[in-house]
Amino acid sequence: EPAQRVALVSGANRGLGLEVARQLAADGITVLLGARNALAGEKAARQLRREGGAVVAVALDVTSPADVRALASRIDREYGRLDILINNAGAYFDVDNEASSVDMDVVRQALETNLLGAWQLTEAMLPLMRRHGYGRIVNVSSGCGAIDSEGTSCPAYRVSKAALNSHTRMLATELSGSGILVNAVCPGWVATDMGGHGGRPVAEGAAGIVWAATLPSRPAIHGGFFRDRVRIDW
Ligand code: NDP
Repeated sequence: EPAQRVALVSGANRGLGLEVARQLAADGITVLLGARNALAGEKAARQLRREGGAVVAVALDVTSPADVRALASRIDREYGRLDILINNAGAYFDVDNEASSVDMDVVRQALETNLLGAWQLTEAMLPLMRRHGYGRIVNVSSGCGAIDSEGTSCPAYRVSKAALNSHTRMLATELSGSGILVNAVCPGWVATDMGGHGGRPVAEGAAGIVWAATLPSRPAIHGGFFRDRVRIDW
């Protein structure tokens, strides 16, 4: 394990991303707190710094190739490495839609953020991990993205997470033996703006993500889908 790890968390200005950033920082990891809204990112980073963390806000809309490129160059210049990538940014939890009648624009937008956003961010950051032969990539997914999951609500969201899971599997196969571990994690139902009331505390949902972000190299836990550290079906 590198002496000083650097982590990037997307969508970290609120919800699970913010809490994951907090927990990683509490572990002594330098955290780059990604936010598409610069003010919201700076405010969140300031809060975590007050709590003692080494946390820096970085501009990141995951759907923006320009943002992603600029950030990869900045991390290369300023740190020369990236050890942990948390693809947490997510949206378009379209609870009221059904697959037979959903607006295709919602589907496109869900895929744009939840699948392509994570995909392009990963592609851009991988060279910074390969360079040192160490990396942990966590794709924040959802149990509803399991192919055989029951239910028909949130079709756009569900398909985007199923596709993210598929991407996770392919990437993991490709990166076998590279020192980079890739996994998908479902945080469970969590009380955030997206999850709403009734979900579990954010800290509990975040813990399973942080676990996957800080896995030891051996045994190599790789290419899996987990909730609360327990493997679940794809
Ligand atoms: P929130 O809605 O509370 O937060 C979502 C975060 O993602 C915000 O920071 C938001 O930024 C950011 N975001 C959205 N679109 C983009 C974008 N294009 N670029 C950068 N950031 C973006 O959701 P949660 O914290 O609940 O969700 C976090 C992850 O966990 C998501 O991937 C979600 O699908 C997953 N998840 C959540 C569950 C739950 O019960 N809460 C259950 C299963 C999975 P902004 O503030 O600017 O909108």
